[in-house]
This record gives sequence, structure tokens and C-alpha cells, in this order.
Amino acid sequence: MENRTEKYVENLAGLIRKETVSVFERRPSPEKFREFHELLKETFPDISGACEWEDFEGSLLLKWKGRENKKLPVMFMNHHDVVEAPGKWEHEPFSADVAEGRLWGRGTLDTKGGLWAMLQAADELAAEGFVPERDVYFESSCTEETTGRGARMIAEALEKRNIRFEMIFDEGGMILHEPIDGVKGTFGMVGMGEKGNCIIRFIARSAGGHASTPGKNTPLVRLGAFMAEVDRKCPFKSEISPVIKEMLKRFAPYMGAAGLVTGHAGALEGLLKAVMPGLSPAAGAMLKTTLAFTMAQASEGRNVLPQTAWVVGDMRFSHHQGEKASLMALKPIADKYGIEIKIIEHGINSGLADYNSEGFRLIERAVKAVYPEVDAAVPYVMTGASDSRFFGRICKNCFRFVPFKIDEQQLNSIHGLNENINIDTLVPAVDYYKYMMREV
Ligand SMILES: [Zn+2]
Repeated sequence: MENRTEKYVENLAGLIRKETVSVFERRPSPEKFREFHELLKETFPDISGACEWEDFEGSLLLKWKGRENKKLPVMFMNHHDVVEAPGKWEHEPFSADVAEGRLWGRGTLDTKGGLWAMLQAADELAAEGFVPERDVYFESSCTEETTGRGARMIAEALEKRNIRFEMIFDEGGMILHEPIDGVKGTFGMVGMGEKGNCIIRFIARSAGGHASTPGKNTPLVRLGAFMAEVDRKCPFKSEISPVIKEMLKRFAPYMGAAGLVTGHAGALEGLLKAVMPGLSPAAGAMLKTTLAFTMAQASEGRNVLPQTAWVVGDMRFSHHQGEKASLMALKPIADKYGIEIKIIEHGINSGLADYNSEGFRLIERAVKAVYPEVDAAVPYVMTGASDSRFFGRICKNCFRFVPFKIDEQQLNSIHGLNENINIDTLVPAVDYYKYMMREV
């Protein structure tokens, strides 16, 4: 056990030290990522030798040929780009320091950790001479944190080759204690789908003019009134989807008195809709489309009325009220204030995986096998985005889960300060992936 842990820390630390930051509007050269590929080959020689490699501008697709081809293939995914690491960290973000039972650094959780664990597991299996029953693919993009271009290219290439997958296992939820306030237990949170992400520009126009004679309803005033109304009224429909019902059902035994209510989710939907957003903003966001205003621009001069002013909205649409329907809900409010709606980027409907499928049951069994203390695997809907949204057309069951046990500080460190991973979660994570690869 100790030897394994030591080796694992060293291997993961090597991946962390290689800076593979990707930033919006500044596409890094694929060269930087190719150096990382070389490091993967050195770190995992056995699985590297056993797989066919394909490089899509720095994003990777590996194929591990199975013994038979009776069953559709499966895929394990993560990504090897990371977000920047500004601010003052307790340990330098690319130093991979080991302290307090943790390995520190950007990417330990998001998601070089997951990439390391799946390849470490495969490498050990390949070294033993193991060959999977069916074809197993590994995918790791270098664009997940920016545009998703790499994963999109790979998904399109696979679709053209007519390859379909029975199940895909991507990054997403992890193992958390009390994932929602008041739920007293430890759960493997498995993302079954994700909300679509549509980026919108809201534009208000006028003839402009001098600030000394402004008149009424100038563009910024209209935009302000529009945003205030959206914020106050929230025009989007709340709904408890079957996935959320199942989540609540599984949480219910750990919720004390509130569990008696949530246990009968079907009958008490109205009450729940009122209660859930109160539990946490994340829980509320699972029930409906959200819209966040993130950027703004108006006149260039402090005494000049803008001819055009705009704000950008980041809309995450729900499965029950998709992109079009969510935009329709906004339109009357925009019309009321004379605001144009322009889509900057359309979102993708990810679909929802099935919690009664073999893939979900496999995750459940694997979690139980390596973490006996975990109370249950629980399906949920992710509010953030992952690369697996691009694979919905070639796979109905994309599960978003990485088997690391994390706490609240670690959850908040993703894209934030002091990202780190528990060292004692490394061995079970490798065992989890080995279990999965043997069983699929
Ligand atoms: Zn990320």
C-alpha cells in the first residue's frame, strides 16, 4: 500500500508540474501539449504500448483493442489542460508540493488527477497482460477549459467512423460528505447530464447625444431595468426532473425530518420546488434555467450617451426548458425595454443518462468495492459543463464522475486557490478504474 501511494504521488506530481494552461482567446501551441503526451508515454509505458494513439491538435484519443467485438465500446475521459492559477497560493500551483496529507497544485482535481487515475489503472492492468473484453477508448482533450474544440473534433471523427459507445465515463461529480446542507452522509455524486450553455448579447440602441440633454430611457437605463426584472421575476420554469427525484429519494434516509417529505417526491413536488432552492444555490440551479449577466459595455466617453450598449448573459438552460424555450421566456421582457437578443454561442443539449442502466450500476458497485464507507451513489444534473456534452450523439449514457473523496475546501479550490487532492484517495481511485475496466 505504502509503495503504491509513493509511486502514485510521484506519477501524479509529474503531470501537475508540466504547465498545460489553456486560456480563452489565446490558444496555446499544440507543442506544449505534445510534451505532455511524451510525459504520459513515459509515465504509463504499458498502456501506451498497448493502445493506438491519435493526436487531434494536442487532444488525445487512445484505443485499447478488446478481446472480442460483440459489445459496443466504452470510453474513459478527462482533460489535460488546466485553468490559470493567479493569486497567492499556500503552495506554488505547479510545484506539486506534498504537505498535510495532500498533493497541492493546479489540475490535481480538474482533471489531471482523474486522467492519472484512469491511465495508472490501465497501465497496471496492461502490465499484468490483461486485455479488456471489448474495445476501451481513452480520451483527453486540451481545450476543455476554453472552447471544447478538441473533444468536438474527436466526437465528430468517431461519429464519421460510425463508432457508437455503450457508455462513457467522464469527469464530473466526486465523493462528498453532506453534498447539500442537511444531507448527513457520504455520497458518490454522479452527473447524468449537464445544463446547456448559451451565451447571449443583449443590446440597447439609441441616437446617442450629449450627456447634458439625456432624455428618458437611455440604453443603460433600459438594460438596467431589463436585468433587474429578470433577476426579480426569474421567467424560467422550475421542474423536478426524474433524475432529481431519484437524487432526493436516495438522500431521503439521511435527511432527518426533511427526508420524510423528500421521500415522497412525486406527491409533494410543489413543496419541494419551494424548499430545494433554499437548500443551496447549486440545488436551485438544478431545477431551472439560470441566466447570469457577466460582461457589459456602453459609451467610450463619460459625457457621451451610448448609441449602443450591451450586456452579455451566460444562460444555462435546463433539460425541460431547452435553449429555444428559455429564450422565448426572456423575449417579452426584452421587448418591453426595447432590447435586442443576439446569440453569441449556442448551447448543446447533453441528454440525460439512465440511472437504471448497467453503466450506473457498475459505478455503484465499483464505488462500494473501493469505498465501503460511502452511503450511496447518487445521480444529479451538473450545472457546469464538461467535454462529454459533445458525445451525446454517439452515446446515450455519459456518466460524469471521478472517484476522489473531497471536502468543501477542495470543491471550492477547483478554478480557485489552493487546489489539492487527498493522498489517501489515490489508491482507491486506481482500484475503482481497475474494477470498471475489468467489468465492462
Ligand atoms: Zn475545469
